Amino acid sequence: MCRVAVVGAGVAGLLSALNLNCEVEVFEAAKPGLRGRRCTGVVSRATLARLPRARRFAVQRYSGLEVSVPELDLRLSLSSRTTFAYKLDRGAHELELARMVEDKGHRLLQRTPIRAVKPKAGGVELLLPTGWRRYDAAVLAEGYPATLARSLNLAPTVEARVGIQALVRIGGALDPETLYVAYSPRFLRGFAWVVPLDGGRALVGGAALSRGLETLSRAIRLCSKLFKLKIEISSEKFGGYVLRGYPRSLAKGRVVALGDAVATVKSLSGGGLYAVSALARPLAELVEAAATAREPGAGSLAEIEKVLKTLRRSYALSETFDRAIASAPKLGLKLEAEVRDLEYDDHAVAILQALAGLKSVKRGERFPEHINTPVYA
Ligand SMILES: Cc1cc2nc3c(=O)[nH]c(=O)nc-3n(C[C@H](O)[C@H](O)[C@H](O)COP(=O)(O)OP(=O)(O)OC[C@H]3O[C@@H](n4cnc5c(N)ncnc54)[C@H](O)[C@@H]3O)c2cc1C
Repeated sequence: MCRVAVVGAGVAGLLSALNLNCEVEVFEAAKPGLRGRRCTGVVSRATLARLPRARRFAVQRYSGLEVSVPELDLRLSLSSRTTFAYKLDRGAHELELARMVEDKGHRLLQRTPIRAVKPKAGGVELLLPTGWRRYDAAVLAEGYPATLARSLNLAPTVEARVGIQALVRIGGALDPETLYVAYSPRFLRGFAWVVPLDGGRALVGGAALSRGLETLSRAIRLCSKLFKLKIEISSEKFGGYVLRGYPRSLAKGRVVALGDAVATVKSLSGGGLYAVSALARPLAELVEAAATAREPGAGSLAEIEKVLKTLRRSYALSETFDRAIASAPKLGLKLEAEVRDLEYDDHAVAILQALAGLKSVKRGERFPEHINTPVYA
């Protein structure tokens, strides 16, 4: 039986381990669940379905998306007849994944940082605190800043924003089933969000190229103003890196990488769960093929390429979006669109399609408050 090492017990490492049918050792520098707790945990219906046992950790559901772009004076309200996104309790779900990994018979070694990785003929060597150990293949799922992936030239070119958020009490008319996003490259140098929870609480945060605390106070000011909310912080601030970029490649010889280590993220939101949940299974097939020196199946390669294409498109969209905002005149526009079956994974496309219907808008022209623009016919 082949032996595979997985570096990192975040969602990428744990899902990789769950999909591997060989002898697996998962190495985690800290403890599982810690990084997950820093994440907002908003996922699409499809992503939720792909994440094992995730449904029981879904704590809130959403059928509306309110996007505001203050630079353009643009407000876009998308609503769906069906639930299109969920808020996942990421910390608890990661702990459940860790239990599943151990139930499968894999070893999970906490507080065991891997200090180096060296590809060797017919295998891979990892530097453990106790010395070098040899494996047939390895998965790098160390998250960002991707020190090991970088040492193998696998690290992607990314823009790493600092994402910081806090639990807040909300005063004002907040729809508990709507996600609120303020996309503001000029004012915030990034974007801000309000993710409603139950009982008048919400997660409010921002991701920007500036320092964390400054980002949070700017995000709160922006969201209060744009969405007319009274926001009162009720928890410690928490967060991590929110990435914009795409993978340069995912594999090198017998080393395969997944997650923030190689920026398998959707660039407009920095969301990583879509791609991690879609890639873990076909990538595990690649790892097993590498470990046993056989060719991976064409089906797995095609599946991986499909996801990579989506990530590249998401990156291109986010770049286009920023450029468009920098050069566009103020639209002074309030647009409401009902999207029949809005998919959170495709919300960037839905936004662009809604905007594409506005070609006839003249500079300074104001639209009526309520127009229904079907995005999908
Ligand atoms: C504020 C914020 C909000 C977010 N919101 C969303 C969202 O709503 N939806 C969404 O889809 N995504 C979201 N994301 C992104 C998402 O959290 C990440 O894409 C995802 O957590 C990446 O998982 P990962 O397993 O690749 O990395 P991580 O979660 O970073 O896990 C990596 C693990 O590897 C361990 N490790 C690192 N180096 C070593 C080493 N040398 N040896 C052993 N172990 C090591 C770390 O301790 C860590 O446990 C958000 C991120 C942030 C910061």
